[in-house]
Amino acid sequence: MNELIDRFEPGRPGEDQMPGTGLDGGQKIRCDACPVMCYIAEGRSGACDRYGNSHGRIVRLDPLVILDHDNQQRQGEDARRVVAFAGPDTQDEDGESWDGDIVHAKRRFVSAIGAGTTYPDYKPAPFIVSQSIEGVDLVTVVTEAIFSYCGVKVKIDTDRHIGAETATVRARGEAVGHVTTAEYGSQMLSLGGVHHLTGGSKQEGRTTCETLLALCNREPVELSIDDGATVIVEAGQPPVIDGTRESRMRVGCGSATIGMFASQWKDLVDEVVIVDDHITGVVSEHQAGKVIGWQDTGIRIIGRRSTPGRYFGVSEPGLGWGGTTISNPLDILGPFNPKKGARPGLTLLMISTTGEQFAYFELDEALQPVEKPLPERLRKSVDLIEENCEPALCTVLFMGGAGGSLRAGVTESPVHLTHSVQGLETYVTAGGAPVYVWPGGGITLMVDVTRMPDNAFGSVPTPALVAPIEFTLTLQAYRKLGGHVDHVRPLDDVIARGGDYFNERRLSDAPSTSPWPLMEYLRRSGAGMR
Ligand code: SF4
Repeated sequence: MNELIDRFEPGRPGEDQMPGTGLDGGQKIRCDACPVMCYIAEGRSGACDRYGNSHGRIVRLDPLVILDHDNQQRQGEDARRVVAFAGPDTQDEDGESWDGDIVHAKRRFVSAIGAGTTYPDYKPAPFIVSQSIEGVDLVTVVTEAIFSYCGVKVKIDTDRHIGAETATVRARGEAVGHVTTAEYGSQMLSLGGVHHLTGGSKQEGRTTCETLLALCNREPVELSIDDGATVIVEAGQPPVIDGTRESRMRVGCGSATIGMFASQWKDLVDEVVIVDDHITGVVSEHQAGKVIGWQDTGIRIIGRRSTPGRYFGVSEPGLGWGGTTISNPLDILGPFNPKKGARPGLTLLMISTTGEQFAYFELDEALQPVEKPLPERLRKSVDLIEENCEPALCTVLFMGGAGGSLRAGVTESPVHLTHSVQGLETYVTAGGAPVYVWPGGGITLMVDVTRMPDNAFGSVPTPALVAPIEFTLTLQAYRKLGGHVDHVRPLDDVIARGGDYFNERRLSDAPSTSPWPLMEYLRRSGAGMR
């Protein structure tokens, strides 16, 4: 639930505070919030639809989002309640003017969503907000950032083979990224990056930017992989692979599954094979089976034996059992060897890593496996594998580098900010969500887009993504950093007067998954305890 705190009232031409000052002699004025430098006619918006010309002033058209973390304390009661604010010139429900007292502002956070940018970087960030929390004076520097160097890392929970490593990933036919190294139970994509955004054709750059924007704003996007699958990716939702919605993430690789469940199968069946494209497991040979006394069965797996009971390369990767190409599990078995324990009547369970596919066999007189209905005694163990699988989801992490230019909006000496972030003195958030900052040079961050407020991202036609970023630190540290201390404003002033881009301030419930950044900063830094 959202609430407008204050509505922009259109100004009059000739007023000062106009950030876009490039009057072209006619009715158009210039927006200088990004390198495109649009000239915008009265009543119209610029190329990105984020800024417009209202009565001769450049106005940020989306509201500045102020996050309300009080709702997280009210979980379980009236969690979506919104505290009413009124602007200084308006009246509240009781008909009284707001006197500027922020009685409910204890857990507010000014996010950078709708803040505007520092471009072209000679000016301080749009909002530098002070709040005193538990006796500590904190400053949050708030700005939208234009990221030409950015992309997303996509994790798709599935065993199914969606494409070879380094295969090109396309959106609407344009190359937007590639398949990268698979992780445990997941296929991974690396999309965007400066080469696709700016290094290819104009259309490639545009499509890449639109794809990243949609993924970051948690919209579904169809991606096709060269010589691979078509996948619909939506952050926080199951992937749809070649038209089939994935439901489960594997419980583990074939070897791990043997380790987890070997004792459950003991004395119920003579042999268990977990079919997996990466590591197929065989319980009678596996160390986990040996230590609890499984007997040899004379089984032979067609594949490369890595260590006892662990086989690689039983099949090509595909959309079948355990990410293989096979639909008949017997395809990975050679003849049973009677000299090593095979005998008529020997029982065999074959199952995939998600438990979605399984089959039960008994050897006939010729030691050929014959499929039989799954005995009731094995049902529980099959169900157990299914129950231990997590739901398959798509995860989208935005990754970008907060470069030198943006840092100038925070401090006159940009490298000091980098050192401060790397030294954990400055806490970085994106739309209020915690980020991971890569070690090493620069401020290269990653953030889970599902932890950010709705529609937190925008774009400009350069092409580049626009993402919110906030830096929180103590006022004392900000001074030391060479910060723009003359531009620090208390929270109530930001709420009451807004900023140079004249947009509304919108109070919005903070996502329940993101902690209140100011308290999180105090907790991490220990600043409140000094
Ligand atoms: S593209 Fe948008 S931000 Fe860039 S100059 Fe035009 S209106 Fe301003």
